[in-house]
Amino acid sequence: MDNYQIADAFALLAKIMDIHGENSFKTKTFANAAFQIEKLPMQLADMDAASIAAQKGIGAATAQKIAALLQTGSLSILNEYIAKTPAGVIEMLNIKGLGPKKINTVWKEMGIETIGELEYACNENRLTLYKGFGEKTQHNVADAIRFYLNQQGWFLYQQAEEIAQQFLQLLQTQLPTHNTVITGSLRRQMETVDSIDLLTTADAADVMQLLQPLDALTFTEELPNGLYYQISNGPQLFIHTTTADTWGHTLFTTTGPDVFCNSILASLTSTNYATEEALFTAAQQAFVIPAFRDLPQDVLNTAALIGSVDLIQPQDIKGIIHSHSVWSDGSNSIREMAEAARAKGLEYLVISDHSKSAGYANGLNEERILQQHAEIDLLNKQLAPFKIFKSIECDILNDGSLDYSDAVLSSFDLVIASVHSNLKMTEEKAMQRLLTAIAHPAVTILGHMTGRLLLSRAGYPVNYDAIIEACAKHHVCIELNAHPRRLDIDWRWIPAAVKKGILISINPDAHAVEGFADTRYGVLAAQKGMLRKQYNLSSFSLQAFEDFLQQNKAAKALAS
Ligand SMILES: [Zn+2]
Ligand SMILES: [Zn+2]
Repeated sequence: MDNYQIADAFALLAKIMDIHGENSFKTKTFANAAFQIEKLPMQLADMDAASIAAQKGIGAATAQKIAALLQTGSLSILNEYIAKTPAGVIEMLNIKGLGPKKINTVWKEMGIETIGELEYACNENRLTLYKGFGEKTQHNVADAIRFYLNQQGWFLYQQAEEIAQQFLQLLQTQLPTHNTVITGSLRRQMETVDSIDLLTTADAADVMQLLQPLDALTFTEELPNGLYYQISNGPQLFIHTTTADTWGHTLFTTTGPDVFCNSILASLTSTNYATEEALFTAAQQAFVIPAFRDLPQDVLNTAALIGSVDLIQPQDIKGIIHSHSVWSDGSNSIREMAEAARAKGLEYLVISDHSKSAGYANGLNEERILQQHAEIDLLNKQLAPFKIFKSIECDILNDGSLDYSDAVLSSFDLVIASVHSNLKMTEEKAMQRLLTAIAHPAVTILGHMTGRLLLSRAGYPVNYDAIIEACAKHHVCIELNAHPRRLDIDWRWIPAAVKKGILISINPDAHAVEGFADTRYGVLAAQKGMLRKQYNLSSFSLQAFEDFLQQNKAAKALAS
């Protein structure tokens, strides 16, 4: 073990102790020891205990720890601190601009334990509510987190798609006589990807020459079927090359996934298919759109469902359901949100600010609800026929009860119920909370079912079948939260929910006007779950939505 490794161990110890808010005299001793050790001209490993203790900045106690570290390879006090600190909290030390003090606030006061949650909290404007976190800090932290997460190799669909479009346009405009398209997992609209795949009929040599001058790309290797690059701060880039004759075959195999491809290719002997359609025909199979190719075979076999008739499209969205305003943790006023929605051609907006227990999000108490409803009434007079609906994203409390009395809950046009607190729980606990909330007669929609944040927080464990069963029984819709980091309910469960007659609601959970655009990511995920527009609540016209709310209330009254 060399001095640098020893210094690193003490530096980390000092930082983690600071994160815990330990006595700063103690932590400074270790930080200073780390600093001095790094500068030592000779290796500590070659010195005896007495001469280690005699070094500047290293006292007897530290010297003892160094000796133990050299002997055992580990620093026991550091191990103890690591054991009592969530891994995600320690990982935050990698975020530029986040020192141990700020991490202490993030962890102990905001209750955030992973980097992904922290990024999401920035998105929800939650950091600015705490001492030492201005709007600028929040912005910088969000940027630094994105940079850090991008180093990890996996990317959200949204991030990868943005990068892919740039390379696609470059190839299309610079090599215009050739055909170039996006293929791979992006073409299948997977929610997370670790590579960007393009397919082109251009020569590898021409592509290489075109990409050569780009600083953002590092060439990895050339294979007979294409070129491999690493995008800095981005995923890998594979440029697959093919000819017009084999275009359909290469597009098919590069799109994947392997399980699906192999099941189709097994019956084929040629690779000469100019189109994917020709390949499916030759295999005597109905064409399956790329978005469906990850579905399990038994779902796909439901032949009637394979067609993409009425498959939900971005332009089918008629209203914004689930949005926040400055009344809780949003960035825009209700008027701004409504006018922006109207300008996009949407027919209605559901304002669902946080409920009173969500103190971190400036949740609404009973008095402020009345004030907000008065504002919405006034705006509705001015903005008609556009309509704003009164809603609330009501916290599901620890025991599964809701955050207001039944009387208050009945003052809303609809209620979205979500879990925001005590996310670390067993499946048993999660199910008890969720099933209690679903059975409450006021609940219209179950919000972000598992609380997952893609690539950073797994979400609490749930029994999907039981939730779907309960939602069907109590006439509760299930949200597909469209934020690209959530996409919760997972699209894999949409077929089962629809089969039970449950309506899905693709909701942007917008905390600002810009958040409306996230709806598209929800639609792309929903397509993977074969969702048709008539089973998506936010595709209902204003009239149909109002009718639904009435019928839903009646149905729930009958059921309870
Ligand atoms: Zn929420
Ligand atoms: Zn929300």
